[in-house]
Parts: sequence; C-alpha cells; structure tokens
Amino acid sequence: MKFTNLTRRTEIGANSYYLETSDRRLVLDCGMHPKLVGEEALPNMNAVGGRRLDAIIISHAHQDHIGTLPILMRRQAQARVFMTEPTAEIGSVLLHNSVNVMTRQREELGTTLYPLFTHRETDRVIERWQSCALRQAYTLSGERASADSSETTFEFYDAGHVLGSTGVLLRADGRRVFYTGDVNFDDQTIAQAALFSAESIDILIMECTRGDTQAPPGWSRASEEKRFTQAIENAFTRGGCILVPVFAFGKTQEVLAMLYKMRREKTLDFPIYIGGLSSKISQIYDERAQMGRRQLPRLELLDELRPYVLNADSIHEAQTRPGRVYALSSGMMTSKTLSNTFAQRIVDQSRHSIFFVGYADPESPAGILRNARAGDEVTIDPDRGPQRVQCNIEQFQFSAHASRESLIAFATRLAPKKILLVHGDLPAVEWMRARLVSDLPKCEVIVPTPGVELEL
Ligand SMILES: [Zn+2]
Ligand SMILES: [Zn+2]
Repeated sequence: MKFTNLTRRTEIGANSYYLETSDRRLVLDCGMHPKLVGEEALPNMNAVGGRRLDAIIISHAHQDHIGTLPILMRRQAQARVFMTEPTAEIGSVLLHNSVNVMTRQREELGTTLYPLFTHRETDRVIERWQSCALRQAYTLSGERASADSSETTFEFYDAGHVLGSTGVLLRADGRRVFYTGDVNFDDQTIAQAALFSAESIDILIMECTRGDTQAPPGWSRASEEKRFTQAIENAFTRGGCILVPVFAFGKTQEVLAMLYKMRREKTLDFPIYIGGLSSKISQIYDERAQMGRRQLPRLELLDELRPYVLNADSIHEAQTRPGRVYALSSGMMTSKTLSNTFAQRIVDQSRHSIFFVGYADPESPAGILRNARAGDEVTIDPDRGPQRVQCNIEQFQFSAHASRESLIAFATRLAPKKILLVHGDLPAVEWMRARLVSDLPKCEVIVPTPGVELEL
C-alpha cells in the first residue's frame, strides 16, 4: 500500500491524501488553503502524477477538505466521488460561495487565474457526486458491499465534528486503514460525539489540530457555556455589543444553539445577527434536524432564534447597538469578510466586546487580535491600517476538534501498527508524535513528509 501526503506543508492547509492499494487508487479529501491564493492554495496534485484515480472520498464539507474538489475532478474526470448526503448539500452551497469569493479576489489580487472554477463547472461536478450512508461498506465503483468483500471498500462513520462529518474506514489488501477526518470525541451543543467502529485497525491516519493545546484544567462544556452566558451579560452591562467571529458552517450553528439554550432557560434574551451564508447553512441544519444523530433534534435554529441576516453591503450600515450579539463569519476574520468589517468598527471602542470561540490560525486577523492586549496597535485590514485595541476581548473553548488527550486515548485503545499524523501545525504534530512514541512503543508513528511517497 502506498501513501502520499498531498498537503504542501506540515500544517492545516489544503488537506488531501493519496492512497494506492494493490489494484485501486484514491484520494481522501481535496481542500483549499484558508490563507494562500492561486496554485499555492491547492493540494499538491502533481504528486499524483499521471496516475488515474478510481475514487475521491470527502470526509466533510469544510473548505480545507472540499474546497478544490472541482479542480481535481476536472483533472480526474473518470474518478467517482463519494461523501455523505449532508456533506454534498452543504458542500454545494460552500463551493458556490467560494466561486463568488474568488471572483471578487480576481480584481483585488489582479489575477486572471481566478476564479479557479465557475458556478457552471460546480453545478456539473456536483451531478457526479454519490451520497453514501453511514456504516455501510461500498466498493470504489459505488456499489454496496459486505464488510468482508475481497475488493477495496470504504465505509463512513460519524465523526461528531460538524453536520455530515465522517471518519473513513478503508478495507484493502487484507488490511484496515482508518482516516479520522476532523473528529470530536465529546458532545457539542448540537453535534453528538463521534461514533467510530470498534474494529481493530492496522493503519490510523489521525488529525492533530489541538496537538499543542493543553486541555484547560477543570474544563467542561457545561461550565464553559455558563462562563459564556455570564460574559455576555457582563458585556451588555458595559453598554456595548458583542462580535463572535464564527465559521459559517458548524460554529455558527453551535453558537446559535447555545444562545437558544440561554433563551430557553430565560437567563438572557437579545437580538442576534448572522451572515447570509451562515443563514443558508443553518437552514440545512434545520431541514435535517430530525434526520441522523444530533442533540436538540426539535430545535430549528432560524425559526426559534429569528436572527437578522446581514450581507456584504448591509454590514457597513449595520448599527453597533448595545445588547446585541453579532455571530459573523469568517472565524479567522479574513480580510473583507463580515466579521473583519464589523471588527474594524468596534475594536477601538471600550464598550464593545469580541468573543473568540474556536480555532483561528495564529497569523490570521482573529489570531492576532485574540493575542492582543488593550492599547496594542493591530492591523485587521491592510487597506485601513493599524487600529488601537480598546474593546473587551475574551476567549472560550468550544472547539469542534478532539482534545489531544482524547486523540491519544483513541489511538492507544486501537493500538494500530502504524499511525500517520496529519492536519496539524508542526508543534501540534510533534507533540502528538513524541507522546505516541512513548505510549505505543510497538507502533510506528509517522509524520508524512509532504509530497513523498510512503510504502505502508
Ligand atoms: Zn473541519
Ligand atoms: Zn479541517
């Protein structure tokens, strides 16, 4: 069996992995780098060379896992493409949104390469996606198969990260390979903890997002929700509003569900603002509320919370009214997004607050602002220049990713022969490697060098 890490660096970038069995070739995930542009934002598809893929399997619809799928499908027109039904539904919305973002960037960056794909091409490739059920083995031709089939098969398991997210079990050449995708082993407010196979595994491909983050002592989601509620109350007492930068898919819906619980428990009630894309994805959460595993299955977010919807135009006129929560994307406060534009309007005013609730790349505007102290000069948007931080900044731990302790516990329980560590920045991957080497001395722990073929 051969494996190549198609991500260009050891980081959380454009995630993509090539796997070759004795008779089949496939790619797991095909992401877009959240920060880089042009060719650099793509996985290193050249490392696949002239080899024809049989299948492309997508773990979930976050941009760093699905964002450049239309390009790989253009180059590998014969490959079949598999994902869960919610991933297909959300992926289609997000890829079309990505076309709009790239079309805008075409002028901003002055690059004729953009958009990397069009709305029409996106519609065409979506027709070739096959939706698959959870806990059902399929051959790479897309037929249902039994778990003991002699052919190469794959099977999706609920990864508990966002709606539709999966871990992928591959059975090939008499061995079992498990790719965690992005995973959470704990319940969130909507998502239920991952439910993976109890089968023994030979090779584990594991994400490491939180590998360099120690779990805060005494942390529990319930106590963190309480702290969040209290902080909102205090922020309103300051006479300001609160910006919560969130990803449109996943974090927005988790935050809305928490705000719903505050209303239900009558602790707090206040107007909420979200973005147009977040609203579209929340609608998919609502339509699928009673299908599949989740918490609060009767909660329809849009119906219950009636959030006001802002877009790229109305964000400029939106009032920064006291006693309101603005849960706006993007989570990393990328330039020109709603959260970035809104942050510029409140960052230098002490009555307002910004609450961070999830992962942000340390070099992104959200990462920079999160680590800023009162009085620091920060540049949120290069076109605007530096601003002095005066607003109240707080951080909360509502990650959609497994803690490093739970990843280690999972790997230890499986005790596979080999572990490949992926989807982590260098310090995260290194911490995980050191820990696994000492906890599992019989296991070969590998940090796959990008672009280099490994014989497994
Ligand atoms: Zn993800
Ligand atoms: Zn990811």
